[in-house]
Formats: sequence, C-alpha cells, structure tokens
Amino acid sequence: MKAQARSDTKPEVALRSALSKHGLRYRKNVKPIKGLRREVDVHFGVAKVAIFVDGCFWHGCPEHSRPTKSNTKWWADKIARNRERDAETTDRLEEEGYEVIRVWEHEQPEVAAKQIAEVVKQRRR
Ligand SMILES: [Zn+2]
Repeated sequence: MKAQARSDTKPEVALRSALSKHGLRYRKNVKPIKGLRREVDVHFGVAKVAIFVDGCFWHGCPEHSRPTKSNTKWWADKIARNRERDAETTDRLEEEGYEVIRVWEHEQPEVAAKQIAEVVKQRRR
C-alpha cells in the first residue's frame, strides 16, 4: 500500500540479508523504468533481475489473504487492483528484458535467496 512505508519492511530486510550471505550485490528501492512509478524492492542491474517482496494481505496471497470482516467488498476490490498493478508491473519489466521474481512475505528468506542467487548468477553469464 502506498501510505505504508514501502522500504525496509521486515521481510525485505530479512531477504536482503540472506542475499548478502550469497555474496550478491544489489540496490534497493530502484525505479528501473522511466515513467513507471513502481519501485523494485531489490534490483540486480547487470543481471536485470527485479525482486518484489509482496505482503500477503495487500497482494492477496493465496495462503494468507482472507476476506475482511468489514468493508469486505472495498478491500476485495483494493486487493484485486493491487494484483492487477503487480501483473502490469511484471509485464512492463519483462518487456524491458527483466526477470521478475515475486517473493511472498511468508516465504523463508533463505529459500527465496537461494533461488534468486541461482537466477542472478545464471543471467550474469
Ligand atoms: Zn502468505
């Protein structure tokens, strides 16, 4: 969500520290495409890999997103719009030659970091 401080959420910090253990260098909170007002949470410029850490509630994680008790329709619409925006962002980045990896906040950072490390190393070759 926009009103929320977007950078340095707990899952992002955990993922970045796990990535550092793989010896990977990255930049955080990068807007890689001109005119696209969307920040990549973890950005690998040379490898062109864009990582998003998606909150389970805001992005409608299939495991943890539950209908809210009040304003159900409003929230459902909002989360649906977030998901549309996520898909759009992914498309735009892929058009620019990026590999986009979305990590749910509930995922184990070490597991996600290992997968990301493999992709980044492959794409650098
Ligand atoms: Zn989840």
